[in-house]
Amino acid sequence: MEELIGHCRTCEKPIYCKMGFLDGVVQADKSLVCYECSSEMPKENLTVEPQK
Ligand SMILES: [Zn+2]
Repeated sequence: MEELIGHCRTCEKPIYCKMGFLDGVVQADKSLVCYECSSEMPKENLTVEPQK
């Protein structure tokens, strides 16, 4: 059973929820990206606390 959740904001690939597992990543701003694009995301999208 697959449920269409939305489309990747980068490549516009459809992202499904399969058996309760999302086929991608939901960003902090609620936008969706597929796993392929999320792995290509620049590090600046990750919140990293600077070490002092
Ligand atoms: Zn994508």
